Amino acid sequence: MSNLLKSIIRPEILALSAYHVPSADGMIKLDAMENPYTLPLILREEISQLAEDAHINRYPDPSATSLKVILRNTLSIPSEMAIMLGNGSDEIIQAIALATAKPEAVLMGVDPGFAMFRIIATFCGMNYVGVPLTANFSLDLDAMLAAISQHRPAVIFLAYPNNPSGNLFDPQAICRIIEATPGIVIVDEAYQAFADATFMDMLTQYPNLLLMRTLSKLGLAGLRLGLLVGRPEWLAQLEKLRLPYNVGIMTQLIAERIFQHYDILLEQAAAIKAERTILRARLATMEGVEVFPSDANFILFRLNEASRIFQELQQYGILIKNLDGTHPLLKNCLRVTVGTSDENTQFCKTLRRILDKPLQLA
Ligand code: PMP
Repeated sequence: MSNLLKSIIRPEILALSAYHVPSADGMIKLDAMENPYTLPLILREEISQLAEDAHINRYPDPSATSLKVILRNTLSIPSEMAIMLGNGSDEIIQAIALATAKPEAVLMGVDPGFAMFRIIATFCGMNYVGVPLTANFSLDLDAMLAAISQHRPAVIFLAYPNNPSGNLFDPQAICRIIEATPGIVIVDEAYQAFADATFMDMLTQYPNLLLMRTLSKLGLAGLRLGLLVGRPEWLAQLEKLRLPYNVGIMTQLIAERIFQHYDILLEQAAAIKAERTILRARLATMEGVEVFPSDANFILFRLNEASRIFQELQQYGILIKNLDGTHPLLKNCLRVTVGTSDENTQFCKTLRRILDKPLQLA
């Protein structure tokens, strides 16, 4: 590494590994919690028409007013709460970290949790503190409360359901954390569509609670749209960090049109939940496979030699996520996104084939 580079780039950035996205060319892609279904042809045709008519020579509406109206109605956002939009919810996490990154400020999460909380905290100059979950991936409330009084975090992020474990934390434990912390709590509901649980109605109760959603897991990952819901006084400050035209005109137009047919997204989410039940049951019948409960569109499971099995799956053209070695609680754990019925069958067949194969001894 050149001396110039070392002298210019901040040491915490030099030490950081970039968020790695593996190539999935030609593979069955079950690694990134995407919705596997396409939209109905008629809706895709409407989107083509929108593209044809869009004034892409103009900047988009910087406050995305009409998109926010439809989001508010379809997602039952309380009228007293404001909405901020991001280029994916990752960008919202970044705005929150930038706004709160006083010297020595702490951003707290749970481990294992969503990797971007730590990465964004680090590159925004915050100290990240990850509080370990219990062995079955529940919140360790005593450890959280102790860490809160020790570190006085400015911000706590809790994904509900959690990624990569897939479970919902005890809502009462989350309330205790919101009550105990001197800072704000962001409940990240990226996987809410698969969970039947939400903190949306708690927003009015807690002045230090904010709620984040994304359209990525609902079938619109390529559009890049995330939203933060909270009291106008908080969002007015965070809005100052949002770059003026962060949500492009095509994202606004397409998201607005698709949300006029929100039932389609909900039907797809229901289909994914049904597939999740089948996939979990199939995994549970495989010898040596421990399957964890999921309220999300992915399933965490543990088996011997997870890293070798991950690689073999890859050789057979199936890409899932290897979590082995990323955290002690995730030893020998893999995470598979729920795909179409065919993709899930293909994945299960291949996994069974690998597990049944006698080991080739050299
Ligand atoms: N929160 C959680 C818990 C996630 O798992 C993800 C995506 N993996 C995100 C936020 C970010 O989603 P996006 O930026 O696509 O909105």
